[in-house]
Amino acid sequence: MTADAHAPSPGDTESGGVLARRVTLSDLLEGDSFKEVMSAFADLYRVGVKVFDATGHKLVDIRVGNSQFCGYLWEFGPTRQACTKLVTGLKNDPFELQDGVEVPRVVDCFTGLRYVVLPLQYEGDLIGRLIFGPYMPQSLPGLPERLYQIEPKLDRRRADSLVEQVRRAPDDLVAKLLTNVQKIVDVLVFTSYRSMLTSQMHIEAVTASYHELEDKNRTLKEQNERLQELDKLKSNFLATVSHELRTPLTSVIGYSEMLIEGMAGSLNDEQRDYVKTIMDKGETLLNMISQILDLSRIESGNLRMDMSDFNVKDVLKHATTSVIPQCQKKSITLDVDIDGSLPFYRGDKDKIGQIVVNLLGNSVKFTPQGGKIVLRGKLWTGPRRHKKKTADDGAGMLFDLADETFVRIDVQDSGVGIPQEKIDRVFERFYQVDNTSTREYGGTGLGLSIVKSFVEAHKGEIFAESEVGKGSTFTVLLPVS
Ligand code: ADP
Repeated sequence: MTADAHAPSPGDTESGGVLARRVTLSDLLEGDSFKEVMSAFADLYRVGVKVFDATGHKLVDIRVGNSQFCGYLWEFGPTRQACTKLVTGLKNDPFELQDGVEVPRVVDCFTGLRYVVLPLQYEGDLIGRLIFGPYMPQSLPGLPERLYQIEPKLDRRRADSLVEQVRRAPDDLVAKLLTNVQKIVDVLVFTSYRSMLTSQMHIEAVTASYHELEDKNRTLKEQNERLQELDKLKSNFLATVSHELRTPLTSVIGYSEMLIEGMAGSLNDEQRDYVKTIMDKGETLLNMISQILDLSRIESGNLRMDMSDFNVKDVLKHATTSVIPQCQKKSITLDVDIDGSLPFYRGDKDKIGQIVVNLLGNSVKFTPQGGKIVLRGKLWTGPRRHKKKTADDGAGMLFDLADETFVRIDVQDSGVGIPQEKIDRVFERFYQVDNTSTREYGGTGLGLSIVKSFVEAHKGEIFAESEVGKGSTFTVLLPVS
């Protein structure tokens, strides 16, 4: 280790870690407490102390007793020059070496006052110097004649009275004091080095894990982008395929219809049944393809809203026509209860129709023979069911309890019901309560997720209440604003 001006910094890992890093005295000595110790020491012995690190940066400067005397000398050019030269030497002159180790230096000022310069070392390296003084050596009878040769204009009486304030001390006492100082500094440096080492290692460990985390984050981000790209590709693929499938399928259905109507000659009963099956299955398939197409539009953010003002009552009534034949087939009673006061609503008429048809379709599908379905529509004022996220609630969610006015549509059935714990999941893509291969009811598990997206596109909400074996009610709230 060699002394250097480089203070270690947490990010400075290129240097190969804290153990390989160069340490400076200011790294080791916590500024204020070291100054306090030195100040107490200077007060006690009434002698000034200066401490420099290896680069000449001053860490401590305590003057005791000599300020006025030195200030007086500073007033004259020649003594000022001599003083500057001396101080520069104290700061910079190299130490003598004994067995490769720096030893203290005694430096006499041109005034006869004395300094001792103490090398500060750590593990054999010179990390700074402590300058003790000036003091008046016991052996010095008074200010030397050479001082007045340097500057004859000096007032002898004034100089004598000012130098009186400088501590007079025998050299052996100074040597003892300095041994003590040396010990104090050694202890301070040693303990600081240990704690610095611990904290630096801690910082390095944290920095290393931070870099590791950064790397992982980058990888995750890249993977995420790749996934998003794939997802987009998938949506595009689905959209294209679905679109391409729809065209031939529409022809299949159309030609089946023409066959049933006898446009290509009359069919016997068996032939008619076969063609009817082709047509029914074709319609189911077309329905599924439409759902996939809707889903891919929603996922790619291309859901187009065709807004207009329309009569909700008409849309609800029209939707029932799509399930009447199935209801008849299963002897299901379909009650329609639409409030005459329902206002014109501004929204995407086709999508609202699709929402209701889908909910009614599910009700018919999941209601056994002889059951009952009720479709209700009304204007309703009340709070939303779900918590509403607000932009500024970073920490948590706020309940939006304010009442709003909605067009409320309920589709209630006396069907198989949905277990409580699965009720919110039915709105997830591909989720089906019965997902076994032997399941009784057909479907893709996409209908409700599409319905939910359509409702949300109208800033509304959808929720369900259900009891297994008794039936379910799906409620759509469309805000009227
Ligand atoms: P699909 O009906 O094509 O399976 P949906 O998204 O429309 O898909 O519905 C998801 C699941 O929610 C259904 O598979 C069913 O388990 C359940 N579900 C939906 N509507 C009802 C209902 N009226 N009664 C009972 N279960 C229902």
